[in-house]
Amino acid sequence: MLINADLHIHSRYSGATSERMTIAALSVEAPRKGINVLATGDCLHGAWQNEIKTCAVIDDGTFEMNGTRFILSAEVEDNYRVHHLLYFPSFSAVDAFKESIKTKSKNLETDGRPNVNMNGLELAHLAKDVDALIGPAHAFTPWTAMYAYHPSLESCYGDLTPYISFVELGLSADTDYADTIQELHRLTFLTNSDSHSPHPVRLAREFTRFEVKEPTFQEIKKAILRTGGNKPVLNVGLPPQEGKYNESACISCFTHYTLDEAIKRRWKCSCGKRIKKGVRDRIGEIATLKAPQHPEHRPPYVHLIPLSEIIAKALGQHTPFTQGVTKRWDELISAFGSEINVLLDADFREIAPVTIPVITAAIQAFRDHKVIIIPGGGGQYGTIELPTEDTRLLVPPGPKNSQTSLLDY
Ligand SMILES: [Zn+2]
Ligand SMILES: [Zn+2]
Repeated sequence: MLINADLHIHSRYSGATSERMTIAALSVEAPRKGINVLATGDCLHGAWQNEIKTCAVIDDGTFEMNGTRFILSAEVEDNYRVHHLLYFPSFSAVDAFKESIKTKSKNLETDGRPNVNMNGLELAHLAKDVDALIGPAHAFTPWTAMYAYHPSLESCYGDLTPYISFVELGLSADTDYADTIQELHRLTFLTNSDSHSPHPVRLAREFTRFEVKEPTFQEIKKAILRTGGNKPVLNVGLPPQEGKYNESACISCFTHYTLDEAIKRRWKCSCGKRIKKGVRDRIGEIATLKAPQHPEHRPPYVHLIPLSEIIAKALGQHTPFTQGVTKRWDELISAFGSEINVLLDADFREIAPVTIPVITAAIQAFRDHKVIIIPGGGGQYGTIELPTEDTRLLVPPGPKNSQTSLLDY
């Protein structure tokens, strides 16, 4: 069977997260985005563990509420500020790992994403000891990522590099970016939202589709390891330009710079603040290939723009966090079941009667790849613009749009 999984989120016990990040809210919001499985995030945190334990137990490492499956995951920050993602087979593995880092972390009980005074190799050893998977989170971002501090996987994970089976691409990169780095070719690419809120513009804005026999931890583990016929079959995510760190830009006034300009200015903006190196430029530095070469196992990558962002633009609103946007989003989800169906699969002849013409036209512009993306950088998300003539057009009834459908994969 095919499942859609978003395997990186944070609970309300991590810094700068929404109070609405509860297991109950997530279990309801996930299917509306088209998601079958979420990784819990923050599973080292006691209060969050108690909340996970209110789910039905499917097996040692798989939990369920309202039809949404959960597997145990956590993100930790190491002593170089590198973020690592961990996936655990059971609560006993979580407890054993927690015990082994207890004396190395000051905020293990207070922060859902703890800092651990150990390096990547040491963390990988402890993960392996409890049979957990470990790999770099948002691998190319400039503040807290493996490639911000290390030139290679081996520099981070040393002798345990062969134990690393996945890399999370992060919002500002995609498969074409990452497959210019040869050492990543053997790894499975994960696309996850890293969401701090259950709002549909954040949750599952990136996810991975896997072929598995059942939606359980052990089956997903096999899919990440690509064994037993299980495998990732599709990566889905934002266009990389929409990410917060796509281009090099000032962290204060968000002026963008080319790599040459930034170097010439010694990474100092004309406003006096720091320029942060974008993911595009960082990958340009560490790439070992001029153009991406995809290994045979690499699945296709589909770029998605969150529906509520498209609706906000169509309505001329500055943010997707308004009642007007939510109302239009709800109407479409009620009619078509999930956001993925609306964005990619539903027939326009069926969409048009459910919503207003400007929104139908904006969805069509997305499917026709006519949405213009203004790149993000310096910590500011990229933004989208709709082609103005398209948003004024009424969509005539016609055959189903032929843009690649997710059902084709
Ligand atoms: Zn992180
Ligand atoms: Zn500046």
